[in-house]
Amino acid sequence: MRAPSLPPLVASLVSCLTLASALAAAEAKPYFTLHEVGPGVFAAICVPGSAAGSNAGFVIGDDGVAVVDTFQASAAAEQLLAAIRERTKLPIRFVVDTHYHLDHVAGNGVFRDAGATIVAQRNVRAWERTENLKWWAPNVPADKRAWVESFVLPSLVYDDGVDLYLGNRLLEVRAMPGHTGGDSVVFVPDADVVFTGDLFWNTALPNTTDADTAAWMTSDDRLLAGHPAATFVPGHGEVGRAADVAAFRGYLEALRGAVAAARQAGLSGDALVAEVRGQLAPRFARWGFYDHFIAENITQMDSELVGTKPRPVPVR
Ligand SMILES: [Zn+2]
Repeated sequence: MRAPSLPPLVASLVSCLTLASALAAAEAKPYFTLHEVGPGVFAAICVPGSAAGSNAGFVIGDDGVAVVDTFQASAAAEQLLAAIRERTKLPIRFVVDTHYHLDHVAGNGVFRDAGATIVAQRNVRAWERTENLKWWAPNVPADKRAWVESFVLPSLVYDDGVDLYLGNRLLEVRAMPGHTGGDSVVFVPDADVVFTGDLFWNTALPNTTDADTAAWMTSDDRLLAGHPAATFVPGHGEVGRAADVAAFRGYLEALRGAVAAARQAGLSGDALVAEVRGQLAPRFARWGFYDHFIAENITQMDSELVGTKPRPVPVR
């Protein structure tokens, strides 16, 4: 049995691994669809329900390639590597992990073995093999522990950001808090593309387990103000535009407002969840992961607003 807070990404992997026949067909199974969102800039959008678990992408520069996130399944990362190799023989110089969640980092080893340097905000290295165990807490199965503890860590870390050059092509990697406390976005200025990691879920409810939603909304505001005409590659869902980022920010704001109002009205526990759910359903029930995340989004928002929410402890 999986824990209630288990993200759908983990669930999809579990369900996939329990199907031996699915594994046999893994070579042919598409984990993602590729979209060229700018010259040499590719979004790899997770096929819903596949073991890829999240979106990823890559940028081909003059003298090398940079990958953004590495999926939840190594087989999906291998498929991404093959897709890159179909397009260029240039070396894969970097991987940027947008945050520590396992659906974005579990394939790191595939690209490390292909020669890439794994780059991330400092907290990603600190949390990748520890915080990812909590998805099964308090009873972490031995095979899951071994899997999480085998993840390849970033070998180059930063606090606020780093500029990466692929020859003349610049990638601006910037830390922006909200989803975990160790999130980064990757800007490709010459193509006006932003890889947002999980600071943006397109038409989908997010995982808010680690969230600071005030910081998250501020980060989304900064993305919108700084990149109003950009193409946004979300952590989950289809490629979007500024209006889609604004709609996602609107969900966080609505959730926050509804929970605060319910608490002010004296509600708590199941009654609070039911009240907020009733308010949000007309606008958001059609969004992805609604049934999976709505209840815990509400309870986690409540604990955030009353100041009792546990969050990963930053290393700096
Ligand atoms: Zn995440």
